[in-house]
Amino acid sequence: MVHAPNALAHHWMPFTANRDFQQQPRLLVRAEGMHYWSNAGQRILDGASGLFCCAAGHGRREITEAVARQLGELEYVPHFQFGHPASFQLASRLAQILPGDLDHVFFCSSGSEAIDTALKIVMACQWARGEGQRTRFVSRERAYHGVNIGGTSLSGIMRNREAFGGTLPNVVHMRHTWSGPGRFVRGQSQDGAELADDLERFCALYGGQTIAACFVEPIAGSTGVLVPPVGYLQRLREICDRHGILLVFDEVICGFGRTGKAFGADSFGVIPDLMTMAKALTNGAQPMGAVAVRAPVWQSIAEHAIELFHGYTFSAHPAAAAAALATLDIYESERLFDRAAELSPHFLDRMFALADLPGVTDVRGYGLLAAFDLAPDGAPGERGYRCLKRLFDEGLLIKWTGDTGILAPPLIATPDHIDEMAATLRRVLADA
Ligand code: PLP
Repeated sequence: MVHAPNALAHHWMPFTANRDFQQQPRLLVRAEGMHYWSNAGQRILDGASGLFCCAAGHGRREITEAVARQLGELEYVPHFQFGHPASFQLASRLAQILPGDLDHVFFCSSGSEAIDTALKIVMACQWARGEGQRTRFVSRERAYHGVNIGGTSLSGIMRNREAFGGTLPNVVHMRHTWSGPGRFVRGQSQDGAELADDLERFCALYGGQTIAACFVEPIAGSTGVLVPPVGYLQRLREICDRHGILLVFDEVICGFGRTGKAFGADSFGVIPDLMTMAKALTNGAQPMGAVAVRAPVWQSIAEHAIELFHGYTFSAHPAAAAAALATLDIYESERLFDRAAELSPHFLDRMFALADLPGVTDVRGYGLLAAFDLAPDGAPGERGYRCLKRLFDEGLLIKWTGDTGILAPPLIATPDHIDEMAATLRRVLADA
């Protein structure tokens, strides 16, 4: 077999400083349990579950075998008008662990597709209810809802929007819930629920009957872990109910145990009308996203329209469904959501102990999700990027957004792993 030369120039990497990467590549070639291995043979502790994906840890044989078995038996089916058993089984399994009557599930291949799917289900639902005048969407500053045009329109992160003028026009953004540097709030803040009243103000300004849906991440993850204040999500739910607005939780990061329960909706006690999922749904072993909807949303579309004119070639791909079923088995048999809840106090202790480092201006966290902000040094993000490289050299992988470091360890982590993460962070941040 003829292989192309192993050059780095041709793959245009996502969200990456490509030229700099080519000078000093960080190539991962193997993974098992809590660790990656680089091409140089260095062992790297995974403090971010890859990218919030590998909640059950790496190299899970059960998942690999399930995918291999599925591919050996049936590698693909067209999903428009045909089906295969695994995706029905998966939808039923999800309905069992989803809160309330979120019990119909639409499959796609990523979080970004889940967001676009949710936007279209909302539009179809409002239209089927005779409420087609609801064309406005509400999102939030600092929100990350993926990178398709729908998610870019909802985005509350300037860098993810500024070059892309042609987004959906009818999106308005509530204020974010971060209350400023130096607060070091562990878990939920006692104040800030009134920020949800931004939604009420939009109803007063535009007319509640013109708003189709309100999209929020229960915890805003990629921007740096903004935990909702006590009562905030409840108040959003009340305002949505008052005005006939659908509430959408984007649980692409929060889902599958990250908050210590199955979903953020469970941890915060609020049931949305729609929920998006991806990432840890398959433990990262196959690309898959999903949108769950409550029974009334499903009924309004199913009763008034023949079908939803939406779907992807790879919706409910058999290999992804097999990976997800094997992943859910592991979460259940190893009680990983409970384990996350049990480990959370130790994890948050170690993360909040970083507060005494000179450059650290804030720490936030909930469940097995935490972030710290560094005071910028040079252009925004330069210091964070320097830290990313130094940490990698020191054998720790975490997620960086600008000068904010984000930790989301696999739910199989032990207190020793957390201690090692904290010690490496302390060493690197002390003179970063
Ligand atoms: N929504 C949220 C909350 C996310 O954090 C992400 C990705 O990080 C997405 C959507 C997009 O997911 P994907 O990258 O799989 O398209």
